Amino acid sequence: MSTALEDLARTASTCTRCRLSAGRTQVVFADGSPTANLMFVGEGPGYHEDQKGVPFVGAAGQLLNTLLGEIGMERGEVRITNTVLCRPPGNRDPLPDELESCRPYLTQQVELVDPKVIVTLGNFATRVILDTKLGITRVRGQVHPWNGRTVIPTFHPAAVLRGGGATSKTMEQVREDFAKVRAVLDEAGTSVVVLPEEQLGLF
Ligand code: URA
Repeated sequence: MSTALEDLARTASTCTRCRLSAGRTQVVFADGSPTANLMFVGEGPGYHEDQKGVPFVGAAGQLLNTLLGEIGMERGEVRITNTVLCRPPGNRDPLPDELESCRPYLTQQVELVDPKVIVTLGNFATRVILDTKLGITRVRGQVHPWNGRTVIPTFHPAAVLRGGGATSKTMEQVREDFAKVRAVLDEAGTSVVVLPEEQLGLF
């Protein structure tokens, strides 16, 4: 029997809700754990993602893997998806109606995976999730309570690569934001373990 998440991925795989369906090789639904505590939302698949059907497999993905390693995590234990599930032609920005067409897949995926923390990578993911017009430079590193979860926006890894790479100021800021993600996850973990005495008595 398939899970609700597998059903959602299957529905998405034949989606024709917007024009991006016409140019895709395949729908790039997500990668990683179906029960992750931490979820990343990027912008949209690029060339390599469209070819492989997996998000963040190119240079930006390598950097994401490195950043995860630096906070003691692996790709397989987090969830990774995008605001749009089909590659925009020539890697152009997703258009407002494309983002809206794809929003239900993102919303449902968040509900089904049920992560404690969501990291929005760059402007598009941040605007879609937080429903804000503020740019990423203004909101990055802030901890936003959102629908019972925590959203932490940071720069897109591609912006780090464009802005000087591993030794850049942007990378330093993204590292600070990832350290915050680690701290929020650790805090959330702790609050699960420390139970009031009367609740402990129930076990
Ligand atoms: N950039 C994104 O935003 N998503 C990907 O999957 C790859 C690159």
